[in-house]
Amino acid sequence: EDQGFISCLPARAAASPDAIYATFDGEPITFADLHRKSDSVAVELRRLGVAKGDRVALMLRNSPDSLAVLFAIAKCGAVWVPVNVQLRGDGLKYILEHCDPRVVFANRDLFPNILECGADTNAFQLVAETGDAGALDKLAGGDHVFSESLPSADDLFALNYTSGTTGRPKGVCVTHRMLRYASEGAMLCSDARDGDVFFVWEPLYHIGGAQLIPIPLLRDVTLSMVQRFSASRFWEQVRDCGATQIHYLGGVLQILLKQPESERDRDHKVRAAWGGGCPRDIWRAFEERFGMPLRECYGMTESSSITTFNASGVLGSVGTPVPWLSVEILDEQGSPVAAGVHGEIVVHPRQAGAVFAGYFRNEEATAKALRPDGFHTGDLGMLDADGNLYFLGRLTDSVRVKGENVSAFEVEHVAGSHPMVEDCALIGVKAEIGEQEIKLFIKPKEGADIDYSAFSDWLAQRLAPFQNPRYLAVVKDFERTPSQRIMKHRLSVSVDGSWD
Ligand code: ATP
Ligand code: MG
Repeated sequence: EDQGFISCLPARAAASPDAIYATFDGEPITFADLHRKSDSVAVELRRLGVAKGDRVALMLRNSPDSLAVLFAIAKCGAVWVPVNVQLRGDGLKYILEHCDPRVVFANRDLFPNILECGADTNAFQLVAETGDAGALDKLAGGDHVFSESLPSADDLFALNYTSGTTGRPKGVCVTHRMLRYASEGAMLCSDARDGDVFFVWEPLYHIGGAQLIPIPLLRDVTLSMVQRFSASRFWEQVRDCGATQIHYLGGVLQILLKQPESERDRDHKVRAAWGGGCPRDIWRAFEERFGMPLRECYGMTESSSITTFNASGVLGSVGTPVPWLSVEILDEQGSPVAAGVHGEIVVHPRQAGAVFAGYFRNEEATAKALRPDGFHTGDLGMLDADGNLYFLGRLTDSVRVKGENVSAFEVEHVAGSHPMVEDCALIGVKAEIGEQEIKLFIKPKEGADIDYSAFSDWLAQRLAPFQNPRYLAVVKDFERTPSQRIMKHRLSVSVDGSWD
């Protein structure tokens, strides 16, 4: 049996044409609409010369038409390359050249970014979402029937570029089957039920958003999409669409928690918030204020998104694996470690195709990640005696100091809780003799004037001596990836003097 998702669209459109796949700013998109529009765009893609396996890059904000294009790409067996609409310059050039697309769809106002980023624009066809040149709205309004057979589960569905936290972004080859696993994982961890409404505030370019796409095809569930995230309107939007599920990523929960308290904070139907990146210290505060349990997950595109999830509520843990994956912690020699010991998180598929088969055109990175003993995530973690996983940061983000492994994540967590620190980042720099020393970069809160020696004393009271930064540097701002992670590889390793 096919374990993809695209074949479910014609089936759903035939069985319940008027049922709602998603609403967009309140406007319904039925299964029949989505099927008909994506058929027309699929026929148009073929006319543009897009063959099976060809890459089609989408630099589009969420819209009903962007959904139609996405499904059209899937129907054609072409490969979707989601491009973050905020990208420009070198970062955009890199992805556009690396994925080698036949067609690039973009919002018209993003054309200058594409034309000026330095990529060879003769190498692909640029199609606008609307307006005169190539009009996607016209494409999607056509009435063509796409009659070819649909791709199979092991065909490529997307190249999802990682956020580039540890270096150049890598294009993860995501099959139709992997996206299916991703959405099965999302349904498991959110405990999805018929009648659920998933509130979608995030762009679809990350696997975190993309994993929601198949859900309404697999369950009697609707997506409620909005143009863009708004902290002040979030709960009003959640109430208006009757959402029962919200997904979170990164700093969203902190932002929501910073909004002024309201009597209506608990006036919603949301059963659970699920996602990744909730800091331990706001976990319970969020649950209590908004009256919903948090289900923290751990995962990455390479292992079909959700890899483990916390259904038990153990504070700080990312939970236990989904049934199609298993997780172990290995030491530097590749041997499993005992419960409670830190090491690298390594993932194994328990069902074929649940872990990716490689990075696109990047053998070196592929060989580093996919080893005979499993998929090396490059993340530092620990399992407790009950098999609950704890995420402790990046492996490359741990610094070897005087024989000890210092987790950047842990030190940043402490330093970041200083009242004058807005954000901070730790890296290892070469020590004069052997191993490494810690260098901590701090971005102070607006108007804060950090006194170095007072700050050092404050840290010293809270950290083990070997965890204490040898060097401190104050920065105005950090260079960040499109997903707002600090690009640590761009931080200066210079050590001339303790203070930069
Ligand atoms: P690159 O691989 O290019 O460095 P990236 O790994 O940042 O980029 P993503 O695939 O978007 O790109 O992110 C996956 C990573 O996110 C995981 O490897 C892990 O480090 C981090 N992560 C996953 N789950 C959590 C979580 N619950 N809390 C904090 N971080 C998490
Ligand atoms: Mg990664």
